[in-house]
Amino acid sequence: MTKRRDFLKAAPAMAGAALLVNGSFVSSADAKAMIVNKKGEYVLPPLPYAYNALEPYIDEQTMRLHHDKHHAGYVKGLNASLAKLKAARDAGDYSQVQILSDKVAFNGSGHFLHSIFWQNMSPKGGGEPRGKLAKAINMNFGSFAKFKAHFIAAASKVEGSGWGILACEPVAEKLFILQAEKHQNLTAWGVVPLLVVDVWEHAYYLKYQNRRGDYVKAFFNVINWDDVARRLKMAMK
Ligand code: MN
Repeated sequence: MTKRRDFLKAAPAMAGAALLVNGSFVSSADAKAMIVNKKGEYVLPPLPYAYNALEPYIDEQTMRLHHDKHHAGYVKGLNASLAKLKAARDAGDYSQVQILSDKVAFNGSGHFLHSIFWQNMSPKGGGEPRGKLAKAINMNFGSFAKFKAHFIAAASKVEGSGWGILACEPVAEKLFILQAEKHQNLTAWGVVPLLVVDVWEHAYYLKYQNRRGDYVKAFFNVINWDDVARRLKMAMK
């Protein structure tokens, strides 16, 4: 089993590394989910439940394609880009550094966000958060109902492909709701993602077609609030 410190040591410098700055981005569960192989390459983490476990809200066919094809593609792309950057350093040839840096940010963010997304959901999910997470949501957004309306509106209105993200800014310990276009754009460096919803068409189109808002509303039936609370606890120390 790869330990957290081994993962952090193995984690290469990359454009998305700000997420790792305070060390609180990677939980022990994430470290297990994001292990690297003996060659130091990232591997696709298995889903923490069956492909059909989130039915009827998220369908089995979408989960199979999403995890086995799309997420796997980001892992492959991240490894390939890192290998090309190593070759560039060895050759002292930085002619491709701009495109490769962009690919590391795109595929790295894609890999990390999907790794959170799978854990953010559970067949036993839904309902409302409790304890410190509930308190933080009330303090930052007024109430759970206001948070939910804000989150659904933000995620539904991401321009093009992207993500809806609840994040913790750990210096002032405030919560933000952000949008991300593609995977890496529009982030606020230094925040720790707590709850992420994938709003790329591949995440919902088979079942919900153009009704992205219905998909985001259904997502609330499978949110694993215990996982979100664990991430908040790590972010706020
Ligand atoms: Mn996706």
